[in-house]
Amino acid sequence: MNDKQRDRIRERLLEERTSTLETLAEFDDRFRERLEQGDGELSKYPQHLADEGTDTIEQEKDFLLASQEGRQLIEIEEALRTLYKEPDRFGQCENCGRQISLERLDIVPWARLCIDCKNAVEAGGDASAA
Ligand SMILES: [Zn+2]
Repeated sequence: MNDKQRDRIRERLLEERTSTLETLAEFDDRFRERLEQGDGELSKYPQHLADEGTDTIEQEKDFLLASQEGRQLIEIEEALRTLYKEPDRFGQCENCGRQISLERLDIVPWARLCIDCKNAVEAGGDASAA
């Protein structure tokens, strides 16, 4: 990977980071609005909510989406950290050590596995390593 390619990936990561933060901020606003309208129950976590009504289901859905975005944000932050601190290591598959293709990094700039390893992990059903 040359400097120009790295710059491009870094820009992609920063763009994704901004849009993920915006999505999370929206969720946050919506949570707050609901809580302010609610009965003073402060917990955001579905398991603490009474199991009744569509509001709860909607909140659970939001929570799941928000946590997905939250996980993505962590992936993006980690990729940026590697890119800044250990640029030579960036883009290497964590499983087999090969360079992840630029095509893949362009689509998923925070990818930690090459496409072969990712497919193998998905086929094996071990999502924790994905
Ligand atoms: Zn690999």
